[in-house]
Amino acid sequence: MRLKCIKLAGFKSFVDPTTVQFPSNMCAVVGPNGCGKSNIIDAVRWVMGESSAKNLRGESMTDVIFNGSNARKPVGQASVELVFDNSDGTIRGEYAAFAEISVRRKVTRDAKNNYYLNGTKCRRRDITDIFLGTGLGPRSYSIISQGIISNLIESKPEELRVFIEEAAGISKYKERRRDTENR
Ligand code: ATP
Ligand code: MG
Repeated sequence: MRLKCIKLAGFKSFVDPTTVQFPSNMCAVVGPNGCGKSNIIDAVRWVMGESSAKNLRGESMTDVIFNGSNARKPVGQASVELVFDNSDGTIRGEYAAFAEISVRRKVTRDAKNNYYLNGTKCRRRDITDIFLGTGLGPRSYSIISQGIISNLIESKPEELRVFIEEAAGISKYKERRRDTENR
């Protein structure tokens, strides 16, 4: 599975609709300080369901919406879409047949969030569900941010276990068991 492109509109500094393409397995985003490099990673986390404003470097969850600049007025909503190449079949189950999987999240000023899978409205839960076991979750190991390696080295065995279970593909089944037990 590979992230092919990310489409942003009204998200942080990306006020105008912008598509960032990732044409190969190794891509680098370069640019001067403050140009929006980290905002792209925030966007990926956000779409995958991040629910902590602090983890998105903000104070409230609506801080991801473009809040204006000298030249532009603030906007009313933010939207980010991630398009994945699933031709290797990483995503199984209901979405296995799709060579391309699109995940989108939208938020408005009144903090209403909407999620979409291949254009169809869904729950946040549906997105976390299909990506469980792939390593791509809002706090999973697909995104290695500053400090995460030393956190891992210093983490307690039970914290480390969460990462190992995700890598081994067990977390998906544990989550389903928890779900069944709670019904
Ligand atoms: P560095 O090289 O210093 O790490 P960077 O390229 O990673 O920089 P970012 O942190 O992605 O930069 O972008 C910071 C910019 O995004 C700042 O100019 C900030 O004002 C802008 N920004 C963040 N949130 C919003 C928002 N809600 N509305 C408008 N602009 C925003
Ligand atoms: Mg940065």
